[in-house]
Amino acid sequence: MIPIAEPCLGKKELDNAVQALESGWISSKGEFIEKFEQEFAKYCGRKYGVATSSGTTALHLALTALGIKKGDEVIVPDLSFIATANTVIYCNAKPVFIDSHPEYWCIDPNKIEEKITSKTKAIILVHLYGHPCNMDAIMNIAKHHDLYVIEDVAEAHGAEYKGKKVGSFGDISCFSFYGNKIITTGEGGMCLTNNEELAEKMRILRSHGMDPKKRYWHNLIGFNYRMTNIQAAIGLAQLVKINQFIEKKRQIADWYKKGLKYLADQGMITLHPEMPWAKCVYWMYSILVEDKFRINRDELIRFLEERGIETRPFFYPMHVLPPYKTYDDTLNLSKSISLKGLNLPSSITLEKSEIDYIVDTVKLA
Ligand SMILES: *Cc1c(COP(=O)(O)O)cnc(C)c1O
Repeated sequence: MIPIAEPCLGKKELDNAVQALESGWISSKGEFIEKFEQEFAKYCGRKYGVATSSGTTALHLALTALGIKKGDEVIVPDLSFIATANTVIYCNAKPVFIDSHPEYWCIDPNKIEEKITSKTKAIILVHLYGHPCNMDAIMNIAKHHDLYVIEDVAEAHGAEYKGKKVGSFGDISCFSFYGNKIITTGEGGMCLTNNEELAEKMRILRSHGMDPKKRYWHNLIGFNYRMTNIQAAIGLAQLVKINQFIEKKRQIADWYKKGLKYLADQGMITLHPEMPWAKCVYWMYSILVEDKFRINRDELIRFLEERGIETRPFFYPMHVLPPYKTYDDTLNLSKSISLKGLNLPSSITLEKSEIDYIVDTVKLA
């Protein structure tokens, strides 16, 4: 079976993890944590990094540090992993869903303003499947309406908008280092910001809200959202290879693009987009299975599975999921993209011959 995404771990990850274990610092103190925070922030062009236990806790930490609370509304894309919206609920605020852009699937900036109310406090945007959002348009809207911007960069480490890395635009950007992400620490995440005060606030909230100058004095309700030293040790080893990983992801995308070009030219599938202003990192190389294709998306999933190829359907648009179910006739593209969308195997360990096999099998269907 060719898996959809598997981590690429090497000797350096092992050595670092062993070093963390041998040092005895196996919880959330130890030399690797600050190093990983600093190095990752530097890589993304940000001043401060606050490592967390997951991408989800990073998002919750960011929203809490920005003061998002009951009665507030937060703009989120309809088409994303559910954690993006759940963290808004954790703050007792309300996620307001926005449709996808037809060409690149992320939040459509043209549809944000009609959903802004006096209660709107922030926009969370998601660089979906490795493709950056339209940052100029979103930053302009946020500035005009005085909204915070949180970037959910869980799927797009190292992607670029007009030559600048995503995760360096918003007030806070949140990353995930789950096992199938661009780089991994097993479980883990990080918040990045240029704002020293916000960074300090997130550090305090991450560790039970304890006053850094007065032990066991808690000025606010915090969390335990810390990353362990062992995770940070693995993350540091991964970070050294991140550009190599991204180049391989782009190589895989190129193999797919060339291999599937005929089907795309026939209008049977739509290839993973890359807008002229974007450097996509193709976290998961994705296609849309169009009506002209001989079988539908779910039948194609089964066809590939029977031939040893694991694929995944796109996320459901959140507004159709039970916790968020609403009727909203502005959310059409997210729905149709979701129904047609398919993630193909995208591990950095894949070889050309395996991509050829996948391409040939899709053509056979
Ligand atoms: C993976 C992911 C998350 C959650 O990250 P975890 O580390 O699994 O908590 C959040 N948002 C998006 C878009 C993701 O893909």
